[in-house]
Amino acid sequence: MADVSLSGIRKTFGNIEVIKGVDLNVASGEFVVFVGPSGCGKSTLLRMIAGLEDVSAGKLAIGGTDMTDEDPAKRGIAMVFQTYALYPHMTVKENMGFALRFAGMDKREIESRVDEAARMLELEALLDRKPKALSGGQRQRVAIGRAIVRHPDVFLFDEPLSNLDAELRVHMRAELSALHDRLKTTMIYVTHDQVEAMTLADRIVVLRQGKVEQIGTPLELYNEPANTFVAGFIGSPS
Ligand code: ADP
Ligand code: MG
Repeated sequence: MADVSLSGIRKTFGNIEVIKGVDLNVASGEFVVFVGPSGCGKSTLLRMIAGLEDVSAGKLAIGGTDMTDEDPAKRGIAMVFQTYALYPHMTVKENMGFALRFAGMDKREIESRVDEAARMLELEALLDRKPKALSGGQRQRVAIGRAIVRHPDVFLFDEPLSNLDAELRVHMRAELSALHDRLKTTMIYVTHDQVEAMTLADRIVVLRQGKVEQIGTPLELYNEPANTFVAGFIGSPS
């Protein structure tokens, strides 16, 4: 667990500024959801927190340590993407353990972490299968498992459920919520699904054209949207 603090974060691609000064404090153990229209900068912001994208200006701290220019591997972060490329030639177990093996972790420790994640995600019966023998939901659980085994301080999710059908999304949403209750890991989650945001979030951050439009609990945003843009996203009638 760790808190995440962004101060005056900016991102420029070429001469276009796509993140225009974002200030945000995510408390340790908090579940924060980013929403906003396509192209508003949700993924870019997440990628900067993960260290997959350089920060053009501003400061990023994780667990009180300045991480603005730190190596991604040293940030204590694991990220789950919308397109979860599993290694097709590896079993579920090997997929989940691969990054740990690559990092040189002890074999027994890897096995215990994979077992633990498999239990949490109900993947125990599927550990020896290859990805092509899994359903979409099962594959996405493996992708989440790959993140869990790393025991990160912070989880980042970029629209992890948007490739799943509606029924499965509802199911996975409940699983993610249970997972957060269980692990109490800090989570930053991007979605364009309003129901997902309302049900998962401790607080929602509404982004618009690279700026924070409003931050609040789902109830606060629902009851007191700052403007019609926020209201449109959160779905209150005003
Ligand atoms: P979102 O995830 O909210 O849909 P993104 O963070 O992907 O938005 O993109 C924000 C803006 O930054 C968009 O205008 C997008 O075209 C631009 N952008 C993202 N990545 C790059 C890149 N590598 N090079 C240039 N422009 C980019
Ligand atoms: Mg995106």
